[in-house]
Amino acid sequence: MPEVPAAVDADALIAIEEQWGARNYHPLDFVVERASGAWLFDVQGRKYLDFLSAYSAVNQGHRHPRILQALRDQAERVTLTSRAFRNDQLPLFCKELAELCRMEMVLPMNTGAEAVETAIKTARRWGHQKKQIPMDRAEIIVCQNNFHGRTTTITGFSSELAYRDGFGPFTPGFVPIPFGDLPALETALTPNTCGFLFEPIQCEAGILFPPRGFIGQAVELCRRNRVLAIADEIQTGLGRTGTLFECWSENTQPDIFVLGKALSGGFYPVSAVVSSAEILGVFEPGSHGSTYGGNPLACAVARAALAVTQEEGLVENSQRLGAWLLEELRAIRHPIIREVRGKGLLVGIDLAVPARPVCERLMEAGVLCKETHEHVIRLAPPLVISKDDLAWALERIVSVFSAI
Ligand SMILES: *Cc1c(COP(=O)(O)O)cnc(C)c1O
Repeated sequence: MPEVPAAVDADALIAIEEQWGARNYHPLDFVVERASGAWLFDVQGRKYLDFLSAYSAVNQGHRHPRILQALRDQAERVTLTSRAFRNDQLPLFCKELAELCRMEMVLPMNTGAEAVETAIKTARRWGHQKKQIPMDRAEIIVCQNNFHGRTTTITGFSSELAYRDGFGPFTPGFVPIPFGDLPALETALTPNTCGFLFEPIQCEAGILFPPRGFIGQAVELCRRNRVLAIADEIQTGLGRTGTLFECWSENTQPDIFVLGKALSGGFYPVSAVVSSAEILGVFEPGSHGSTYGGNPLACAVARAALAVTQEEGLVENSQRLGAWLLEELRAIRHPIIREVRGKGLLVGIDLAVPARPVCERLMEAGVLCKETHEHVIRLAPPLVISKDDLAWALERIVSVFSAI
C-alpha cells in the first residue's frame, strides 16, 4: 500500500467534487484510490468489500489481470480506427459474442443507453420494413418501473418522476404496461407494435421479479404476433443471476439481447445489440453508427472479459455462492426486513425503513452497497468473490442489523 495520506485529503477531494462537478449523483462519502478483485481501498488506506460492482459492470472483479493485459497489449498496438477502416479485433469480437449468445450478428456501441437506443431503432425499422407498419407509427411496449438508461428518449418512457422531471418534450411511440403482466401485454399489442422491451429482473426498481414463467410466455406471445422481444440484460446478463443470461433460466431466447456493463469487465465502456442476421440486417451503411463503437481497444477488452466469464467459472460461482448468501440473509430475522429476494449474486433486502442509513452503517463496517429505490439494499458483489470474503461481509451485515 502507498503512503497513507492525511484524513483531510478525502474531505478536500469531496469538497472539490461538490464545487466543480455537477451533482447528479449522491455517492457514499469515501474516496476510492485503488481496487483489486472484490476489494476497494480508499485514500485513507481503509479496505471495503465491493457489494455493488459498479452496478454489475465489474462482475469479473476489479482489474482482472487477464483483461488488464489485453487492454495493455491492445493499447500498444492500435486503439481507434473508427469504422471507416476495418480493424483486426472487431470481427472476432462480433463472432465470439454472437456465438456466446446463440445469435447471428452483433452491433457494437459504447454505453448501455446507446445500445438500448440502437435496439429501439432496430425494432422500429424492422417493423416498418418487415411488418409493413406505416412510417413513423411503430409502437414499442415497455414496462412500468423500467430502467434502460438516461437519454431523452429512454427517460421519456420511464415511470420515475426523478428521471423525467423537466426533461421533456419526449419521444412518442412507447406504451407502458405493468411489469410481469401478461394479459396487459396482450391487450397492449396492436398491428403497429414492433417490439416489447423488458428487463428480465428490474434491478434499479429494487430487484423486482416477474411472475415465474413470464419471460417465456411473453417472448412466445411476441413471436405469435410478430413483435420483437428485446431483453435488456445489461445488468442481469453475463452471469449475474447464476445463468449466463437471465432469459435462459426460463429456456427462452429473445429476438434481441441488449448488453453492456460486464461486457468489458469494468475497463472500458462497451455495449452491444445482439440478434439475428434478419433483424440486424435492417441497417445499411450510413443508417447508424458511433465513432468509438467497435473500436479495437474496446473489442480486445471485451473479448478478454467474455473469456474470463466463460473460462473462470463465474456463472457457477454466482449460482452457488448466491444460493448460500440468500439462505444466510433470509436467516436474519429483523423487524425492519420485509423481504430478501434474489437470484445468483443479485440480492435485494427490502426494508420497512429507508435503506440509505443502513448502507452508511454497512460502509462503516467495510461493506459497500448502495440503496436502490429508497427501501431496498442491493447486494451484488463481483462474481469472482470467494466464499471466505462473502462470509466476512455476511458477518458484518448481521452485526449491522443486530445493532439496529
Ligand atoms: C445500467 C443500465 C442501463 C444503462 O447503461 P449505461 O451504460 O449507464 O448507459 C440500461 N439498462 C439497464 C438494465 C441497466 O442496468
